[in-house]
Amino acid sequence: MNRDYMDIPVVKKMAEAAQVGWANPKLMPWSEAKDALPVTAADITDAEERLERFAPFIMKCFPETIDRRGLIESALTPIPKMEDFLNSAYKADIKGALLLKQDSHLAVAGSVKARGGIYEVLKHTEDLALEAGLLKPEDDYSILASEECRAFFGGYTIQVGSTGNLGLSIGIASAAVGYEVIVHMSADAKQWKKDMLRSHGAKVIEYDSDYSEAVKNGRKESDSNPKSYFVDDENSKNLFMGYAVAARRLQGQLEELKISVDREHPLFVYIPCGVGGAPGGVAYGLKSIWGDDVHVFFAEPVQAPCMLLGMATGLHHEICVQDVGLTGLTHADGLAVGRPSGFVGKVIEPLLSGEFTLHDKWLYEYMRALDNTEGIFIEPSACAAFEGPIMLKNYEETKRYLVSYGLEDKMERATHIVWATGGRLVPPDIRKEYKNTYLA
Ligand SMILES: *Cc1c(COP(=O)(O)O)cnc(C)c1O
Repeated sequence: MNRDYMDIPVVKKMAEAAQVGWANPKLMPWSEAKDALPVTAADITDAEERLERFAPFIMKCFPETIDRRGLIESALTPIPKMEDFLNSAYKADIKGALLLKQDSHLAVAGSVKARGGIYEVLKHTEDLALEAGLLKPEDDYSILASEECRAFFGGYTIQVGSTGNLGLSIGIASAAVGYEVIVHMSADAKQWKKDMLRSHGAKVIEYDSDYSEAVKNGRKESDSNPKSYFVDDENSKNLFMGYAVAARRLQGQLEELKISVDREHPLFVYIPCGVGGAPGGVAYGLKSIWGDDVHVFFAEPVQAPCMLLGMATGLHHEICVQDVGLTGLTHADGLAVGRPSGFVGKVIEPLLSGEFTLHDKWLYEYMRALDNTEGIFIEPSACAAFEGPIMLKNYEETKRYLVSYGLEDKMERATHIVWATGGRLVPPDIRKEYKNTYLA
């Protein structure tokens, strides 16, 4: 393989497992980028409407969603005490409001995967039921919870490869519909996630290898069974659209909080990235609403910065972190991915503002800080996103970004959202263990 990419400064730093801040040189004005994308606003609307059709069914299967009338949605919460702490402890110099998008507390799956994962299972369910004549589009979808329908879905299998949270989301949702479900778990997956899945009746196959290998095997096994459907995290447009709906809901929440987003009031959003589906889908949704007024940054562990490596080299899924000598090993199980999604990398190439990478030790420091200041627990993977607001003005690369997009004098009026991607389902004993983890 041609290794000229090692001459790219950020790639060289990443290969040394150094922390980096990066601004995307391929970012394009939204007006130019949007028409060349393989996804459209109509695709988001389609996904949004499908979730609304399923709301009566979701309420029936998951009574915890009745409060929000069957919509699986999370709170957007100001975290001023955490903001003060980050400014004093880490010289973050955050101006404007800092908010937490609590997908960590989403119903059903307790992570951002409750968006894409459940959406894809429901989409497949609708496809099967319409084709079998069990459902008409105008029906009340709660009929899908009938004994007759459950028996029908019991003849089908859903499979997925996962580092943990996607498996939980697909497993719990599939079992609720009535499917047989098989989750192919990579070596990074935590034991409690496997145990929880088995308790829902899912079959869990464990691998000694990484995420890409688990996906490959899952895909192969599923392809050999005509009644099996594979949720393909590396390529799925359905997952992507399920995540993208988040932005439409966020729009209403910002309005409720009387927070403006426009040219004078920029919005910064920081999201942890694994294979790219969740942050990519959310990022696309955000850009489709706020265009150039929203600035989306991803965060990845120093040993598994697959999306940044794919973007900075332009090789996307044709390169993996092991190619530059990294291990892919990280305490951030949700981000332990060595090779990015090819589909997502190409879609977001003109949309992403930049990236931050961080050492694992900070995951636990930020986790404790949020818990101590605001009383909110989120899992270590989700804490990667705090690296964004802390470091935005502390790297030359991202400071230059603020200058070149004329943002410097608007920062007092900016809003920063840290996307908390998981945590609610972490059992008490594991939380305690995390809180007592200190890395060098
Ligand atoms: C899956 C996950 C992510 C990243 O999502 P990808 O689609 O893999 O990029 C981030 N945080 C948590 C907690 C996750 O489970």
